[in-house]
Amino acid sequence: MYSVTNPATGELIEEIPNSTEQEVRAAIDKVHRGYTSWRRRPVEERAKIVLRAAELFAERSDELAAIMTLEMGKRINEGRGEVGIVVDIFNYYGNNGPALLADEPLKIKGGDAVIRKEPIGALLGVMPWNFPAYQVARFVAPNLVLGNTILLKHASICPRSGVAIEQILHEAGVPEDAYVNIFASSRQVPAILADPRIQGVSLTGSEAAGVSVAAEAGRNLKRCVLELGGSDPLIVLDTNDMEETVKATSTARMRNCGQSCNAPKRMIVLSDIYDEFVDKFTKRVGDYFQPGDPADPKTPFGPLASIAAADEVAEQVEKAVAQGATLRTGGKRIGPGAYLEATVLTDVTPEMNAYYEEIFGPVALIFKADTEEEAIAIANDSPFGLGAAVFGTDPERNRRVADQIESGMVYMNKSGGSQADLPFGGIKRSGMGRELGAAGIEEFMNKKSIRL
Ligand code: NAP
Repeated sequence: MYSVTNPATGELIEEIPNSTEQEVRAAIDKVHRGYTSWRRRPVEERAKIVLRAAELFAERSDELAAIMTLEMGKRINEGRGEVGIVVDIFNYYGNNGPALLADEPLKIKGGDAVIRKEPIGALLGVMPWNFPAYQVARFVAPNLVLGNTILLKHASICPRSGVAIEQILHEAGVPEDAYVNIFASSRQVPAILADPRIQGVSLTGSEAAGVSVAAEAGRNLKRCVLELGGSDPLIVLDTNDMEETVKATSTARMRNCGQSCNAPKRMIVLSDIYDEFVDKFTKRVGDYFQPGDPADPKTPFGPLASIAAADEVAEQVEKAVAQGATLRTGGKRIGPGAYLEATVLTDVTPEMNAYYEEIFGPVALIFKADTEEEAIAIANDSPFGLGAAVFGTDPERNRRVADQIESGMVYMNKSGGSQADLPFGGIKRSGMGRELGAAGIEEFMNKKSIRL
């Protein structure tokens, strides 16, 4: 069942039944048929449609942001910001797609060859609720320009976002059979992947969903991109402006109510500035992130996406404290609705569940490291490897530390960012493959070798 429940109040607004088996089969058939004509359209035409979609996303920014606020509690201004990145992504692939897909001449032993960049067919997208438009854009914009067609299963708490995105794409000129939104349940995903007409799958979501989708993709020999969870480290080596460092790092952690895959979930601070950092960080988190109505643009901190998500994060905090962690601020569930106080935990050790788990909510863990080497060791002591950040005043030292971090991305003196032209993705249990930038258009591409 898909449903819309307002996380700010807990009120159930709408329920939508799952697609039937028959509807799912018809949708697969549609995108499979759509592929034959969509792939034949000149790339410039597909790119122009994607550029038109960018315009429509910009025009309908307020409407999309309001849907996110209602469906998953995102603060309205954050929703508008998210649509801004969506517009950038559609513009990036619309403007750069034709050049990225141009033939690549190759000098080979005894002659010449060309690498031709072709699509592979109809793809399945399985998307999460935390960035209901941005996550879809990262997968959809490059693949539409490339000539693949798309069947999209959105998160079951975001049906209206799924429908609004589909409408925009069709209005922009994407044919009805080149992009289809379905209300499939996660139990229907294996059958979709087993269908020979589907050539690949991109999942953004939890580690558990990744394991299941990767297994089905493997069983059916389908290409697969997985953008999964993270527990990103943020190392603070030193600072000449503690207020600014605390503001930047706490804001990065609490953005989207702590529900960003690449939020800095583990702050690792060198011991000479640790006490001051913890005091100031705790004070800012306690003072600034006051819960309020996410539809009010002045609210600094909204609810989590659902009551279930808030309960789960509150339980993780409770368990950490029961296992010996120090609760510096926050930790309490607030109702009605899916609110949890912004929380800071210290003294988390490897024996505690919180040390290795992803905490997908407004909870910052702060660790003390005596040396640069110890900071790197703590950073790498994680099953995840999505992003990381290094804060410090010496660029050379920052880079030296960054080079030793096991992650797909590292940011210097900033954290948790994403932009259309910079590849995004992780290693270890954070997934496989890349989205965004030139790399993002290559995942579901047939790089056909043509020997001349
Ligand atoms: P989720 O529960 O895994 O759901 C994501 C999507 O996968 C939803 O559409 C969900 O459908 C579907 N799904 C769940 N279990 C499945 C299964 N066994 N087989 C097939 N599909 C399945 O994740 P979430 O709670 O929405 O999102 C939060 C997670 O996503 C966090 O771990 C976060 O770090 C990660 N994330 C990663 C990135 C990245 O780029 N690396 C970006 C954003 C989020 P239903 O809604 O119908 O259950």
